[in-house]
Amino acid sequence: MGSGKVTTGSAPFDFQGKRVTVAGLGVSGIPAAKALHARGAIVTVVNDGDDARSREQAAGLEALGITVRLGDGATLPEGTELIVTTPGWQPGKPLFQAAAEAGVPVWGDVELAWRLRGPDAAPWLAVTGTNGKTTTVRMLAAILEAAGLRTAAVGNIGVSLLDVVLGEETYDVLAVELSSYQLHWAPSLRAHSAAVLNLAPDHLDWHGSMAAYAADKGRIYAGNQVACVYNVADKATEDLVREADVEEGCRAIGFTLGTPGPSQLGVVDGILVDRAFVENRQKNAQELAEVSDVRPPAPHNIANALAAAALARAFGVPAQAVRDGLRSFRPDAHRIEHVADLDGVAYVDDSKATNTHAAQASLAAYESIVWIAGGLAKGATFDELVAASAKHLRAVVLIGADRALIREALARHAPEVPVVDLDRTDTGAMLQAVTEAKRLAVAGDTVLLAPACASMDMFTNYNQRGDAFATAVGELRA
Ligand code: ADP
Repeated sequence: MGSGKVTTGSAPFDFQGKRVTVAGLGVSGIPAAKALHARGAIVTVVNDGDDARSREQAAGLEALGITVRLGDGATLPEGTELIVTTPGWQPGKPLFQAAAEAGVPVWGDVELAWRLRGPDAAPWLAVTGTNGKTTTVRMLAAILEAAGLRTAAVGNIGVSLLDVVLGEETYDVLAVELSSYQLHWAPSLRAHSAAVLNLAPDHLDWHGSMAAYAADKGRIYAGNQVACVYNVADKATEDLVREADVEEGCRAIGFTLGTPGPSQLGVVDGILVDRAFVENRQKNAQELAEVSDVRPPAPHNIANALAAAALARAFGVPAQAVRDGLRSFRPDAHRIEHVADLDGVAYVDDSKATNTHAAQASLAAYESIVWIAGGLAKGATFDELVAASAKHLRAVVLIGADRALIREALARHAPEVPVVDLDRTDTGAMLQAVTEAKRLAVAGDTVLLAPACASMDMFTNYNQRGDAFATAVGELRA
């Protein structure tokens, strides 16, 4: 971990008279354009689409005096001094190539929010990773709240940082979820402390390569003041800490499901303990909570709780607040959500397991599983997942467009496991899948929806897929 050099790229930025191009209308583009306009910038919004909805949005902005160019998101408007982009726009787009050639900086929504913070703004405790971000940020906010701090869970979680920064409410500290896209476009962000939970291949089409994806995740550590929190079991996260340029005195803090070493948080005899933020950490450890205080107490979720605790402790939160916060935490829907028990079989909805890394974590959490899987694979392969999970599988029910990929991996690594392959994608498919799963399960098993795939081949999103599962379980019961 490099230290010493502090890059203070976040000096107040004077937007008055600056020609700023906002790339993309929509949920982040429109508020960005308005905020920039209100600060005296000369704003042009460019947008690829030119449909009825964009025209309506454009009319609203034009009424304020903002220029909008529909149907051409590729050409850099004349005189542009800064681009503020919607985080989803891919770095390879022609607009950004033109910006690079012209030496024009590009900021995302998070960078803009960071630059617009007032002088007394709340520090950020930031979380990224391939999986577990939302859960960890919510746990962190619960812990901070239990410590009596004014806080909120914000960012990629669905609460715009720009709204928070420009809003009336004042905070002591923010629990911030950041995606790799947002980090890519946030060059001057400097968190108080930050965590990278894990790193597995995801969104590689956007980033171009695993190295580029990891590098973007690693930006979260840049300029950290107190702690860079990493996952001891995932060396790639520790490597990112080592490469980070942080403030003098900032510490590397590991979390582990095993016994923690000095400067780590971990688990000893069912107790979450802190050996990082204690006096004499060579000898002492502080009890924070019990494993049973974490819901659900699946291994990956204990890891999330430890990461949240590490960030809270870095901010000076007492041990008691960690316990109280974790006890008050309720997981979001469709994340290892216990739906029902039927004839001694548990039905669990982890529809949010939309990639193989997430599904592997949830399959590891149960002994004997009838696994409902499949959907859109997004270029993933399933050999590693199936090989690692085979011993937990009673049976498998496959649904969705890319189910053949999973079926083939099962044939290679778990040939003895019975597989039901459902060749239908209509709305009744989930009921049939759950009915098959019920037939295959025996008392003590868990029927687990952890598709390892995206849902859009059959459903609007993972929420709808999870709801369909719960409805189907309800029908079995009736
Ligand atoms: P994110 O915000 O990163 O998508 P969530 O907290 O919403 O993460 O969890 C998404 C899914 O990832 C969960 O449903 C679970 O299957 C899985 N998951 C959660 N935490 C972890 C973790 N630490 N490691 C691996 N998988 C995880």
